[in-house]
Amino acid sequence: MLTKNELKQLEKSEKLRTPVLSLYLNLDKKTPEGQHYLAELRRILSITNKQIVAGYKEAGKFQKQLHERIVPRLLNFIDEEVLPYGTIRALALFASLNDKQARNNQEIVIYTLPRPIRSQSHVENNPFISPLLFLLDQYEQYAVIITNKNNAHFYLVTMGEITQSAEFISDIPHRSDQGGWAQKRYERRIDHAIEQHVQRVVKHLIKQIAKTDVRRIILGGDPDILYLFKKNLPDREQKMVIGHIPAKPNEPSTETLERTLKIATDAERESEKKAVLELREAMAHQGKAVTGLMETIKAVNEKRVQKLILIQGYSISGSLCMNCNTLSTPQTRCTNCQAITKPVDDLLESAAERVFLENGIIEFVDENIDLTALGNIGALLRF
Ligand SMILES: [Zn+2]
Repeated sequence: MLTKNELKQLEKSEKLRTPVLSLYLNLDKKTPEGQHYLAELRRILSITNKQIVAGYKEAGKFQKQLHERIVPRLLNFIDEEVLPYGTIRALALFASLNDKQARNNQEIVIYTLPRPIRSQSHVENNPFISPLLFLLDQYEQYAVIITNKNNAHFYLVTMGEITQSAEFISDIPHRSDQGGWAQKRYERRIDHAIEQHVQRVVKHLIKQIAKTDVRRIILGGDPDILYLFKKNLPDREQKMVIGHIPAKPNEPSTETLERTLKIATDAERESEKKAVLELREAMAHQGKAVTGLMETIKAVNEKRVQKLILIQGYSISGSLCMNCNTLSTPQTRCTNCQAITKPVDDLLESAAERVFLENGIIEFVDENIDLTALGNIGALLRF
Protein backbone atom coordinates (compact mmCIF):
# COMPACT_ATOMS: atom_id res chain seq x y z
CA MET A 1 0.00 0.00 0.00
CA LEU A 2 1.19 3.44 -0.93
CA THR A 3 2.92 5.69 1.61
CA LYS A 4 4.44 9.18 1.48
CA ASN A 5 7.97 7.79 1.50
CA GLU A 6 7.23 5.50 -1.40
CA LEU A 7 5.80 8.41 -3.34
CA LYS A 8 8.96 10.45 -2.79
CA GLN A 9 11.09 7.56 -4.00
CA LEU A 10 8.87 7.18 -7.06
CA GLU A 11 9.28 10.83 -7.99
CA LYS A 12 13.06 10.50 -7.76
CA SER A 13 13.22 7.08 -9.42
CA GLU A 14 15.89 6.85 -12.12
CA LYS A 15 13.89 4.13 -13.83
CA LEU A 16 11.12 6.54 -14.78
CA ARG A 17 12.97 8.39 -17.53
CA THR A 18 11.23 11.19 -19.32
CA PRO A 19 8.61 11.19 -20.75
CA VAL A 20 6.62 9.58 -17.98
CA LEU A 21 3.06 8.39 -18.38
CA SER A 22 0.93 8.81 -15.23
CA LEU A 23 -2.41 7.10 -15.64
CA TYR A 24 -5.22 6.93 -13.09
CA LEU A 25 -8.15 4.61 -13.65
CA ASN A 26 -11.32 4.73 -11.59
CA LEU A 27 -12.55 1.19 -10.89
CA ASP A 28 -15.20 2.08 -8.32
CA LYS A 29 -18.28 0.07 -9.30
CA LYS A 30 -20.51 2.58 -7.53
CA THR A 31 -19.69 5.21 -10.18
CA PRO A 32 -20.59 5.09 -13.91
CA GLU A 33 -16.94 5.83 -14.69
CA GLY A 34 -15.85 2.75 -12.75
CA GLN A 35 -18.54 0.49 -14.18
CA HIS A 36 -17.38 1.26 -17.70
CA TYR A 37 -13.70 1.40 -16.94
CA LEU A 38 -12.65 -0.12 -20.30
CA ALA A 39 -14.50 2.62 -22.19
CA GLU A 40 -12.87 5.15 -19.84
CA LEU A 41 -9.47 3.63 -20.50
CA ARG A 42 -10.02 3.94 -24.26
CA ARG A 43 -11.03 7.56 -23.77
CA ILE A 44 -7.96 8.53 -21.74
CA LEU A 45 -5.64 6.57 -24.04
CA SER A 46 -6.86 8.57 -27.00
CA ILE A 47 -6.06 11.75 -25.04
CA THR A 48 -2.65 10.30 -24.20
CA ASN A 49 -1.98 9.64 -27.88
CA LYS A 50 -2.74 13.25 -28.70
CA GLN A 51 -0.50 14.48 -25.88
CA ILE A 52 2.37 12.36 -27.18
CA VAL A 53 1.93 13.54 -30.77
CA ALA A 54 1.69 17.18 -29.73
CA GLY A 55 4.62 17.11 -27.34
CA TYR A 56 7.35 14.84 -28.73
CA LYS A 57 9.30 14.40 -31.95
CA GLU A 58 9.70 10.70 -31.25
CA ALA A 59 5.96 10.25 -30.90
CA GLY A 60 5.82 7.02 -32.93
CA LYS A 61 8.33 5.33 -30.66
CA PHE A 62 6.51 6.43 -27.51
CA GLN A 63 3.11 5.37 -28.86
CA LYS A 64 4.52 1.94 -29.63
CA GLN A 65 5.69 1.66 -26.02
CA LEU A 66 2.27 2.66 -24.82
CA HIS A 67 0.26 0.21 -26.91
CA GLU A 68 2.62 -2.76 -27.10
CA ARG A 69 4.01 -2.78 -23.63
CA ILE A 70 2.22 -0.58 -21.11
CA VAL A 71 -1.46 -1.12 -21.98
CA PRO A 72 -1.17 -4.96 -22.13
CA ARG A 73 0.59 -4.88 -18.76
CA LEU A 74 -2.19 -2.74 -17.31
CA LEU A 75 -4.97 -4.99 -18.65
CA ASN A 76 -3.20 -8.05 -17.40
CA PHE A 77 -2.80 -6.44 -13.97
CA ILE A 78 -6.52 -5.64 -13.84
CA ASP A 79 -7.41 -9.25 -14.69
CA GLU A 80 -5.06 -10.78 -12.16
CA GLU A 81 -4.80 -8.29 -9.32
CA VAL A 82 -8.00 -6.27 -9.39
CA LEU A 83 -11.00 -8.24 -10.61
CA PRO A 84 -10.57 -11.13 -8.12
CA TYR A 85 -10.72 -8.63 -5.23
CA GLY A 86 -13.65 -6.40 -4.42
CA THR A 87 -11.82 -3.72 -2.46
CA ILE A 88 -9.78 -1.97 -5.15
CA ARG A 89 -11.43 1.26 -6.27
CA ALA A 90 -8.70 2.79 -8.43
CA LEU A 91 -5.31 2.21 -10.00
CA ALA A 92 -2.38 4.54 -10.46
CA LEU A 93 0.16 3.58 -13.13
CA PHE A 94 3.52 5.23 -13.76
CA ALA A 95 5.71 4.19 -16.67
CA SER A 96 8.47 5.56 -18.83
CA LEU A 97 7.56 5.88 -22.50
CA ASN A 98 11.25 5.82 -23.35
CA ASP A 99 12.12 2.39 -24.72
CA LYS A 100 15.74 2.43 -23.65
CA GLN A 101 14.31 1.35 -20.35
CA ALA A 102 12.06 -1.30 -21.81
CA ARG A 103 14.13 -4.41 -21.31
CA ASN A 104 11.72 -5.66 -18.69
CA ASN A 105 8.58 -4.42 -17.04
CA GLN A 106 10.17 -3.34 -13.78
CA GLU A 107 9.80 0.33 -14.56
CA ILE A 108 6.04 0.05 -14.85
CA VAL A 109 4.80 0.88 -11.36
CA ILE A 110 1.16 0.19 -10.49
CA TYR A 111 -0.52 1.03 -7.19
CA THR A 112 -3.92 -0.27 -6.17
CA LEU A 113 -6.00 2.21 -4.21
CA PRO A 114 -8.93 1.62 -1.87
CA ARG A 115 -10.37 5.07 -2.75
CA PRO A 116 -11.70 6.20 -6.12
CA ILE A 117 -9.74 8.70 -8.21
CA ARG A 118 -11.00 10.41 -11.38
CA SER A 119 -9.69 8.63 -14.50
CA GLN A 120 -7.01 10.74 -16.17
CA SER A 121 -3.62 10.58 -17.79
CA HIS A 122 -0.62 12.87 -18.07
CA VAL A 123 2.56 12.71 -20.14
CA GLU A 124 5.20 14.83 -18.45
CA ASN A 125 8.84 14.86 -17.43
CA ASN A 126 8.02 13.46 -13.99
CA PRO A 127 5.28 11.32 -12.42
CA PHE A 128 2.08 13.30 -11.83
CA ILE A 129 1.37 12.51 -8.20
CA SER A 130 -0.95 15.17 -6.83
CA PRO A 131 -4.14 12.99 -6.80
CA LEU A 132 -2.20 10.67 -4.49
CA LEU A 133 -1.04 13.57 -2.30
CA PHE A 134 -4.67 14.46 -1.74
CA LEU A 135 -5.60 10.88 -0.76
CA LEU A 136 -2.62 10.58 1.56
CA ASP A 137 -3.62 13.79 3.33
CA GLN A 138 -7.30 12.89 3.66
CA TYR A 139 -6.67 9.30 4.74
CA GLU A 140 -3.61 9.71 6.85
CA GLN A 141 -2.20 6.42 8.08
CA TYR A 142 -2.96 5.52 11.71
CA ALA A 143 -2.37 2.70 14.17
CA VAL A 144 -4.95 1.06 16.43
CA ILE A 145 -4.37 -0.87 19.64
CA ILE A 146 -7.25 -2.74 21.25
CA THR A 147 -6.22 -4.44 24.46
CA ASN A 148 -7.46 -6.15 27.58
CA LYS A 149 -5.29 -7.83 30.18
CA ASN A 150 -4.23 -10.88 28.21
CA ASN A 151 -5.17 -10.24 24.62
CA ALA A 152 -4.40 -7.37 22.24
CA HIS A 153 -4.84 -6.46 18.59
CA PHE A 154 -2.71 -4.11 16.55
CA TYR A 155 -3.95 -2.66 13.25
CA LEU A 156 -2.32 -0.37 10.74
CA VAL A 157 -4.86 1.55 8.67
CA THR A 158 -3.68 2.98 5.34
CA MET A 159 -6.02 5.03 3.14
CA GLY A 160 -8.94 3.81 5.17
CA GLU A 161 -8.16 0.08 4.92
CA ILE A 162 -6.47 -2.31 7.37
CA THR A 163 -3.14 -3.10 5.77
CA GLN A 164 -1.41 -4.82 8.68
CA SER A 165 -2.54 -6.56 11.81
CA ALA A 166 -1.06 -8.54 14.68
CA GLU A 167 -2.53 -10.36 17.66
CA PHE A 168 -0.93 -10.81 21.09
CA ILE A 169 -2.08 -13.43 23.55
CA SER A 170 -0.38 -13.52 26.93
CA ASP A 171 -0.72 -16.20 29.57
CA ILE A 172 -2.09 -14.45 32.66
CA PRO A 173 -2.94 -16.55 35.77
CA HIS A 174 -6.57 -16.30 36.92
CA ARG A 175 -7.32 -14.43 40.12
CA SER A 176 -8.44 -16.61 42.98
CA ASP A 177 -9.07 -16.00 46.64
CA GLN A 178 -6.69 -18.04 48.78
CA GLY A 179 -6.12 -15.38 51.42
CA GLY A 180 -2.92 -14.63 53.39
CA TRP A 181 0.68 -14.33 52.18
CA ALA A 182 0.25 -16.77 49.31
CA GLN A 183 -2.56 -14.62 47.94
CA LYS A 184 -0.40 -11.47 48.02
CA ARG A 185 2.43 -13.22 46.19
CA TYR A 186 -0.06 -14.54 43.69
CA GLU A 187 -1.52 -11.08 43.03
CA ARG A 188 1.99 -9.72 42.41
CA ARG A 189 2.61 -12.47 39.88
CA ILE A 190 -0.58 -11.54 38.04
CA ASP A 191 0.29 -7.83 38.05
CA HIS A 192 3.74 -8.61 36.75
CA ALA A 193 2.33 -10.77 33.93
CA ILE A 194 -0.11 -8.01 32.92
CA GLU A 195 2.69 -5.45 32.95
CA GLN A 196 4.74 -7.69 30.67
CA HIS A 197 1.79 -8.11 28.32
CA VAL A 198 1.34 -4.35 28.11
CA GLN A 199 5.05 -3.76 27.51
CA ARG A 200 5.07 -6.31 24.73
CA VAL A 201 2.24 -4.51 22.94
CA VAL A 202 3.84 -1.08 23.49
CA LYS A 203 7.11 -2.39 22.04
CA HIS A 204 5.35 -3.66 18.93
CA LEU A 205 3.52 -0.36 18.43
CA ILE A 206 6.72 1.71 18.73
CA LYS A 207 8.51 -0.57 16.29
CA GLN A 208 5.73 -0.30 13.72
CA ILE A 209 5.49 3.48 14.07
CA ALA A 210 9.22 3.79 13.45
CA LYS A 211 8.77 1.90 10.17
CA THR A 212 5.87 3.94 8.82
CA ASP A 213 4.44 7.47 8.40
CA VAL A 214 2.12 6.98 11.38
CA ARG A 215 1.43 10.12 13.42
CA ARG A 216 -1.96 9.08 14.82
CA ILE A 217 -2.92 6.35 17.28
CA ILE A 218 -6.36 5.21 18.41
CA LEU A 219 -6.79 3.09 21.53
CA GLY A 220 -9.56 0.80 22.71
CA GLY A 221 -10.25 -1.92 25.25
CA ASP A 222 -10.24 -2.39 29.03
CA PRO A 223 -9.83 1.11 30.63
CA ASP A 224 -7.56 -0.18 33.44
CA ILE A 225 -5.21 -1.84 30.99
CA LEU A 226 -5.28 1.20 28.70
CA TYR A 227 -4.25 3.36 31.66
CA LEU A 228 -1.27 1.07 32.19
CA PHE A 229 -0.60 1.02 28.46
CA LYS A 230 -0.42 4.79 28.22
CA LYS A 231 1.86 4.95 31.25
CA ASN A 232 4.30 2.74 29.33
CA LEU A 233 4.03 4.78 26.14
CA PRO A 234 6.86 7.29 25.49
CA ASP A 235 5.89 11.00 25.37
CA ARG A 236 6.18 11.23 21.62
CA GLU A 237 3.72 8.38 21.04
CA GLN A 238 1.41 9.60 23.80
CA LYS A 239 0.98 12.84 21.90
CA MET A 240 -0.13 10.84 18.85
CA VAL A 241 -3.20 9.41 20.58
CA ILE A 242 -6.21 11.03 18.90
CA GLY A 243 -9.02 9.09 20.53
CA HIS A 244 -10.46 6.10 22.33
CA ILE A 245 -13.15 3.61 21.36
CA PRO A 246 -14.99 1.11 23.52
CA ALA A 247 -13.92 -2.25 22.08
CA LYS A 248 -12.98 -5.84 22.80
CA PRO A 249 -9.81 -7.31 21.25
CA ASN A 250 -11.70 -10.19 19.65
CA GLU A 251 -14.41 -8.14 17.96
CA PRO A 252 -14.45 -8.29 14.13
CA SER A 253 -11.81 -6.02 12.61
CA THR A 254 -14.45 -4.47 10.31
CA GLU A 255 -16.25 -3.07 13.38
CA THR A 256 -13.02 -1.67 14.81
CA LEU A 257 -12.19 -0.14 11.44
CA GLU A 258 -15.55 1.53 11.07
CA ARG A 259 -15.40 3.15 14.51
CA THR A 260 -11.79 4.27 14.21
CA LEU A 261 -12.38 5.77 10.76
CA LYS A 262 -14.84 8.18 12.28
CA ILE A 263 -12.25 9.33 14.82
CA ALA A 264 -9.61 9.61 12.09
CA THR A 265 -11.89 11.76 9.91
CA ASP A 266 -12.66 14.04 12.87
CA ALA A 267 -8.93 14.33 13.58
CA GLU A 268 -8.28 15.26 9.95
CA ARG A 269 -10.94 18.01 10.05
CA GLU A 270 -9.45 19.19 13.34
CA SER A 271 -5.94 19.38 11.91
CA GLU A 272 -7.32 21.35 8.93
CA LYS A 273 -8.91 23.90 11.26
CA LYS A 274 -5.70 24.11 13.26
CA ALA A 275 -3.66 24.72 10.12
CA VAL A 276 -5.91 27.62 9.08
CA LEU A 277 -5.74 29.08 12.57
CA GLU A 278 -1.96 28.74 12.54
CA LEU A 279 -1.89 30.51 9.18
CA ARG A 280 -4.00 33.39 10.46
CA GLU A 281 -1.83 33.79 13.53
CA ALA A 282 1.39 33.61 11.51
CA MET A 283 0.11 36.38 9.22
CA ALA A 284 0.48 38.77 12.15
CA HIS A 285 4.25 38.32 11.97
CA GLN A 286 6.24 39.64 9.05
CA GLY A 287 7.75 36.87 6.90
CA LYS A 288 6.13 33.94 8.73
CA ALA A 289 3.32 33.31 6.29
CA VAL A 290 1.73 34.35 3.01
CA THR A 291 -1.83 34.11 1.71
CA GLY A 292 -3.52 34.43 -1.66
CA LEU A 293 -2.57 32.86 -4.96
CA MET A 294 0.18 35.19 -6.20
CA GLU A 295 2.08 35.46 -2.93
CA THR A 296 1.83 31.74 -2.24
CA ILE A 297 3.06 30.72 -5.70
CA LYS A 298 5.92 33.19 -5.29
CA ALA A 299 6.89 31.52 -1.99
CA VAL A 300 6.70 28.07 -3.64
CA ASN A 301 9.06 29.27 -6.39
CA GLU A 302 11.44 30.57 -3.72
CA LYS A 303 11.33 27.18 -1.90
CA ARG A 304 10.22 28.89 1.29
CA VAL A 305 7.08 26.87 1.98
CA GLN A 306 7.02 24.68 5.06
CA LYS A 307 3.27 24.01 4.98
CA LEU A 308 0.95 24.64 2.05
CA ILE A 309 -2.68 25.11 3.05
CA LEU A 310 -5.38 25.12 0.39
CA ILE A 311 -9.07 24.54 -0.09
CA GLN A 312 -9.94 21.13 -1.53
CA GLY A 313 -10.83 21.25 -5.19
CA TYR A 314 -9.47 24.80 -5.68
CA SER A 315 -8.08 24.64 -9.19
CA ILE A 316 -6.58 27.14 -11.61
CA SER A 317 -4.51 26.75 -14.76
CA GLY A 318 -0.99 28.13 -14.97
CA SER A 319 2.40 28.08 -16.65
CA LEU A 320 5.75 26.48 -16.00
CA CYS A 321 8.97 28.05 -17.28
CA MET A 322 10.91 25.61 -19.49
CA ASN A 323 14.17 27.25 -18.43
CA CYS A 324 14.06 28.08 -14.71
CA ASN A 325 10.99 26.07 -13.57
CA THR A 326 9.17 29.12 -12.25
CA LEU A 327 5.46 28.44 -11.74
CA SER A 328 3.03 31.23 -12.50
CA THR A 329 -0.49 32.11 -13.57
CA PRO A 330 -0.85 31.67 -17.36
CA GLN A 331 1.95 33.60 -19.16
CA THR A 332 3.63 32.99 -22.51
CA ARG A 333 6.98 34.25 -21.19
CA CYS A 334 8.49 33.52 -17.79
CA THR A 335 8.10 36.37 -15.33
CA ASN A 336 11.51 35.53 -13.90
CA CYS A 337 13.77 34.87 -16.91
CA GLN A 338 11.64 35.69 -19.99
CA ALA A 339 12.07 32.16 -21.40
CA ILE A 340 9.19 30.30 -23.06
CA THR A 341 6.71 28.60 -20.74
CA LYS A 342 4.46 25.62 -21.14
CA PRO A 343 0.90 25.46 -19.81
CA VAL A 344 0.10 23.38 -16.71
CA ASP A 345 -3.47 22.11 -16.21
CA ASP A 346 -3.56 22.81 -12.53
CA LEU A 347 -1.15 25.31 -11.05
CA LEU A 348 -2.03 24.34 -7.47
CA GLU A 349 -1.42 20.65 -8.09
CA SER A 350 2.00 21.50 -9.51
CA ALA A 351 2.70 23.73 -6.51
CA ALA A 352 1.60 21.03 -4.05
CA GLU A 353 3.80 18.46 -5.76
CA ARG A 354 6.80 20.74 -5.52
CA VAL A 355 6.26 21.50 -1.84
CA PHE A 356 5.86 17.78 -1.09
CA LEU A 357 9.13 16.90 -2.83
CA GLU A 358 10.94 19.57 -0.84
CA ASN A 359 9.72 17.86 2.34
CA GLY A 360 6.99 20.38 3.02
CA ILE A 361 3.55 19.49 4.31
CA ILE A 362 0.34 19.82 2.28
CA GLU A 363 -2.94 20.42 4.04
CA PHE A 364 -6.03 20.17 1.85
CA VAL A 365 -8.84 21.88 3.74
CA ASP A 366 -12.49 20.91 3.41
CA GLU A 367 -14.66 24.07 3.31
CA ASN A 368 -13.40 26.83 5.58
CA ILE A 369 -14.74 30.40 5.53
CA ASP A 370 -11.56 31.80 7.04
CA LEU A 371 -9.34 30.24 4.40
CA THR A 372 -11.69 31.32 1.63
CA ALA A 373 -11.48 34.88 2.98
CA LEU A 374 -7.68 34.65 2.72
CA GLY A 375 -7.93 33.70 -0.96
CA ASN A 376 -8.36 29.89 -0.65
CA ILE A 377 -4.64 29.34 -0.25
CA GLY A 378 -1.73 30.26 1.96
CA ALA A 379 1.55 28.96 3.30
CA LEU A 380 3.58 28.88 6.47
CA LEU A 381 7.15 29.76 5.59
CA ARG A 382 10.48 28.22 6.52
CA PHE A 383 12.22 31.60 6.38
ZN1 LIG B 1 12.07 31.22 -16.18
